[in-house]
Parts: sequence; C-alpha cells; structure tokens
Amino acid sequence: MTVHFPFQHTYAALPANFFARVAPTPVAAPRLIKLNRALAVHLGLDPDVLESPEGAEILAGKRLPEGADPIAMAYAGHQFGQFVPQLGDGRAILLGEVIDKDGIRRDIQLKGSGPTPFSRRGDGRAALGPVLREYIVSEAMFALGIPTTRSLAAVVTGEGVMRETMLPGAVLTRVAASHVRVGTFQFFAARGDTDGVRALADHVIARHYPDVARAERPYHALLEGVVARQADLVARWLLVGFIHGVMNTDNTSISGETIDYGPCAFMDEYNPAQVFSSIDEFGRYAYANQPRIALWNLTRLAECLLPLFSDEQDSAIEQAQFILGEFADKFTAAYQAGLRKKIGLFTTRDGDEALIQDLLDAMAKNTADFTLTFRRLSDAAGDGADDKVRDQFTDPAAYDEWATRWRKRLADEPQSAAERQAMMRAVNPAFIPRNHRVEAVIAAAVNNDYAPFEELLRVLAKPYEDHPAYAAYTEPPLPDQRVLRTFC
Ligand code: AMP
Ligand code: MG
Ligand code: MG
Repeated sequence: MTVHFPFQHTYAALPANFFARVAPTPVAAPRLIKLNRALAVHLGLDPDVLESPEGAEILAGKRLPEGADPIAMAYAGHQFGQFVPQLGDGRAILLGEVIDKDGIRRDIQLKGSGPTPFSRRGDGRAALGPVLREYIVSEAMFALGIPTTRSLAAVVTGEGVMRETMLPGAVLTRVAASHVRVGTFQFFAARGDTDGVRALADHVIARHYPDVARAERPYHALLEGVVARQADLVARWLLVGFIHGVMNTDNTSISGETIDYGPCAFMDEYNPAQVFSSIDEFGRYAYANQPRIALWNLTRLAECLLPLFSDEQDSAIEQAQFILGEFADKFTAAYQAGLRKKIGLFTTRDGDEALIQDLLDAMAKNTADFTLTFRRLSDAAGDGADDKVRDQFTDPAAYDEWATRWRKRLADEPQSAAERQAMMRAVNPAFIPRNHRVEAVIAAAVNNDYAPFEELLRVLAKPYEDHPAYAAYTEPPLPDQRVLRTFC
C-alpha cells in the first residue's frame, strides 16, 4: 500500500543553506500509541490510513509517505543567554506542509526520528516520557485556547534510548503553523547573510503575517506583529499558570505559537518565582520572568532584522527600540484584561489593578492553588459560597478580607451574578495538566498501561466544564505526590 500525503514544500523551496535534506532513520518495531483522529481529519489526512500498519510506520519514520520531502531545518539560538551559532533540528524532521480545513498551512514534523546533520552529540531520539508529556500538554494548551503546536500522533519505536537509564524510544508527530523561530533568523544574521534574513522574512510574512506585505515598511511591521503575538502569548501563559521552562530564542516561534514542550509545567501553588526545570539553575525562566525573557528574545530578533530596515543605522535602531518598547504595554494590556475576567470584572475602575494584585499577593503568601482558587472564585461569584475558596488559604482571614472588598467592587457592576459566573468559568479552567498527573501517566505508560494517558487526555479536552466523575483531577498533589523538578 502506498500512502500519499497532500504535501507542499514552501520551506524546502528556500535556499539550500536553510536546511539539510535527511530521511528519518528506520526503527525496529513501530507501534501506534495514539492518533489524534480529529486533528488528522482537520489536516485533510485519513485517520484510518494513519491507524493502519503502514500509517504507524510512517509516523515512526520507518516509511516515507509519497509526497514527502524530508528536511532538518537550520537554526541558531541563545540558550540560557549564551549564543550558539548552529543548533538546528537535531532530532526532528519536517516531512512537508499541508493546508488544513481552515486554509492554514501546517508543518508535519517527526520528532525523535533519528540523527540529522544538526544532531551534534545527540542521538536524534526521543524517549517515551517526554513524547507523552508534549502530547498531553500541547493538546491541553490547545483546549485551553492558547496558541500552540499540536500533537498528531505518538508511536513507540520498539527500540531503547539511553538517557540516565535505558528508556523506551518514541516519536511524536508535531504539527505547527511553522517551525521558524527567532533562532532561525539568528542563524543567517550571525553569518552576515542579509539575503538569507530577507528571504526568511519574506517567507514568514507570506505565511504568518500576510497583512504586513501591504504595509509601507513590511519588515518593521513584521517585527511589530511578532512582538504583538508574543506579548499576547506570554500573557495567556501567565493567566493559566504555565511555565515554559526553556524560553531560549530557538524555542520562540515566529508564528506566536507555544513551541517545544520540554521541562514545562503548570504551577500548583501560586508562586511568581516558581521554577520546575532541572536545567534552569538560576531561575532565568521562572514564571514571572517570562514576559521579560520574551522581550529579551524579541530584542534578538530585532537585531537580526536591522539590516532590512532601510534607514540609516542610527534611526533603524531607534525604530526597533520603539517597536520593542510597545511590548510592555501590549503585554500589560493583555495580562490585566485577562486578570479582570478571572475575578469577574466587566467594567474598569480605578483601584482594580490593586484589587487583583492584592489577591495574587495573598495567594502567594498563603500557598493557594492558582487554578483551584480562581475556579472556586467563579463558583463563589455565583452563589456567594466562599468556603471552598477560603480553604485554599493557609490563613483564610486573608481571603475574607479580600473578598469583602471584591464583593463591594462587584456591586458596582451592572451584570448579573449568573453572567459574571459564566464569564469567569470560561477563563478559569477546572482542569490543567498537573505535574503529578503527567508523571503518573508516564510511569504507567512505561509499564505498558496507557489507560491513564487516555483518561487524562479526555479530562483535559474540556478544561472549562465541570465533570463530577473527574473531580479528583481538579485537585492539587498531596504532599507525597508533589513534583519539584521536571526534566526534558
Ligand atoms: P531543545 O532544548 O529541545 O530546544 O533542543 C536544543 C537543541 O538540541 C536543538 O537543536 C535540538 O534539535 C537538539 N537536541 C535535543 N535533543 C536532542 C537529541 N536527543 N539528539 C539530537 N539533538 C537533540
Ligand atoms: Mg527546541
Ligand atoms: Mg525540546
């Protein structure tokens, strides 16, 4: 049986130094663990074919579908602030692009499908645990309404990969609006290849920012567009308690999607300084640092684009600084608007920001669970029952004092309690991929039990709807279930 994918290859049509042609490495015994059937259909792919033995071989990189033109993309990047002029897809291979049902071009990429010319010391492989984590968290982000790469499939390869111990190998099929990163621009800029920077900029304008093509100064407008999307994205992360964990410039997508789920995590207790990643020694990528880091990464992008700003160098820098200067306002506007919804405010009054900040401060001081506090606050906004919110605070009086002010403020709002509650429940999820749940799923899967994985995916697919049978999934970890460190 030959399987044909309706692939297009706009990236592979760029100059030869943008990528390396490389085929996936065949693996021993591929077995499909999970196919995202709804996503397959959305991409115009036949889920039944993907679930066939041939499909599993394709998704494991053992067999190339007709129409594929496999490449590893070149990129550079700042890793924890240190510039590395050549990274690139060391364990990922782009098969091609498809146009989805919304008319959007999507990359189909295998992650963990064997070495490439960019592998450096790596083996080009992925272990089952990180593949499942990326599958779970990226699909959870999608269900939460946050721009993200998606997961089409997970397969086990039937081979072991050596990490600290021998682990089952796996391949994730990742779907993205594109895999162009800030680091992709840095690759060409670092080589003084202005033509490369321009070709890449034109590619991403056509692909992600078509309106920009009509702007008077398209490359300025491109930077503006990327700044706006990153500001919005990071605000959304903060509003659900997400910590990316490795915000290197090579993990910052130009399209504005969340990309590269390594040691990422959702926090349980609210703590602005929270870090989970075992490799983030100095807390560079701590929860509350994320907006600052996004701006730092965008500044690196701006440096790459400067040669395309046709002005004199001085005024080009000034203009880049002006555009970057808009990040703070854009981020703050998105973040504050989101927080207002989280506490049920439709209107704006002086003192609102302080009211919100005082809640966050009290939550931090009283180790309140971020997700549960806001979800229960949504219920309290409806029936006035505060008990379940109070329970989240080590000193419940801290909540009582705040709630008195909150209710006084809510009394100014023309909306009904029911309207308020509906808005709050639509932004304050009941279900997030809590670390202890993800770890339990991985532990079971390594023992060949995928039932917990399937159930967690079902739970996370509708994060804003109460589901009594899944009530346990709303709960934070018990003390002995707490996950203190995450690994990639
Ligand atoms: P990341 O930390 O996931 O953003 O990866 C940083 C760089 O390391 C990228 O260039 C990856 O392609 C590469 N890389 C990560 N893991 C491996 C691996 N197992 N084999 C080869 N390259 C890898
Ligand atoms: Mg990466
Ligand atoms: Mg990674």
